Amino acid sequence: MSIRRNHPPGQLGDHLTALIMQTSVRASTIYPWQERETRLLASFAMHSIDSLGRDQQEPQHWYRSPYQRDRDRILHSAAFRRLSGKMQVFTGEMGDYHRTRLTHTQEVASLARTIGRTLGLNEDLIEALALLHDIGHPPYGHCGEDALDACLKECGGFSHNRFALELVTRIEQRYTDYPGLNLTREVLSGQHYRSHKEDAGAPMLEIQVVDVADSIAYDAHDVDDALKLGLLDWDQLTGLALVRRARMAVPLDRTDPDRRRQLLVHTLLDLQMSDFLQHTQRLLEPMRGFDALRVQQLGVRLGMTDGFAKEKEELERFLFENVYRHPRLAQVREQAAQRLTELFEYLVDHPNQLPDRFQSWIHSHPLRQVVGVYLGGMTDRFCDEQYAALMGQHVAQAADWS
Ligand code: MG
Repeated sequence: MSIRRNHPPGQLGDHLTALIMQTSVRASTIYPWQERETRLLASFAMHSIDSLGRDQQEPQHWYRSPYQRDRDRILHSAAFRRLSGKMQVFTGEMGDYHRTRLTHTQEVASLARTIGRTLGLNEDLIEALALLHDIGHPPYGHCGEDALDACLKECGGFSHNRFALELVTRIEQRYTDYPGLNLTREVLSGQHYRSHKEDAGAPMLEIQVVDVADSIAYDAHDVDDALKLGLLDWDQLTGLALVRRARMAVPLDRTDPDRRRQLLVHTLLDLQMSDFLQHTQRLLEPMRGFDALRVQQLGVRLGMTDGFAKEKEELERFLFENVYRHPRLAQVREQAAQRLTELFEYLVDHPNQLPDRFQSWIHSHPLRQVVGVYLGGMTDRFCDEQYAALMGQHVAQAADWS
């Protein structure tokens, strides 16, 4: 086995040297996943054999590529399972039709893998990045994040993207000798990029694909959930260019409201995916033969056609004004943020109420940060239960959302 391509000196440095040493020991080994990637992936995909490795060196697994192992580690983490109890936009108080963080993440992973397969990118890396992308969200979605950010203002604030890195490098326990999941540097770099987008250059294509799939997924499913919950009605949507496009593509107006909603959502997904894929295929065509690093150095940015991107922005502005700021949702969010803030201050005043593991961190970390980590990992339901148990106040459940 040999390193697949020659990277410019200084780009990969010690990691490349370490990889050459590792691979020369097993010069005769060609892993099944390596063969599969060589056969199926485009030159500009991130090939597993070019991985910069992990902080803690591990031998290669014979039938799972490094990124398949990352995907499995994320999937089996406690933080990932907790996504099922975390709200995306709408809370559990609003019934059980709408998306949770977990189902959103699954939709993103599915769309991102479809894109990856169509473009010849590394699907395993894409799936790992997608499963990780929202793992750092605290309870109560963005309002929970804002509340924690305010509570932690004096010690760096709170960001779900940074917290995701903290979870997988420090908080999750998988090995006896070191903390975290020991993920590859490529998967960690996806989350670093999400934390520092404003000062980062173009990331590798697989990271960009997950970003686009995230946006395609939430634009479509937030329309679905908002219609189902009665936060929007059909007439409000018909002025939007993207909805007009969907009505031209399929006979939406000749169906009953439920079927029309489903058809609209599927069509919104298909229109966005088609535009992105066609545009991206044209963009990447001249880059056949380039490797992942070269494409990244060229600063290639994936996206939709200009006209389509403007229509998508119009839909997003509409959702922001009419759904995310809807008075019924605003009230639920405000109460949730208030509960989280009260619980935070209570635990700062009563650190003996923290679980043993978190109490042991107080000696080496600021108390407010420890409380932030404890609360940030909670599901909405567990946070409500803790609020009720510690503050002696039950959380009122709204009954009129179905
Ligand atoms: Mg997301």
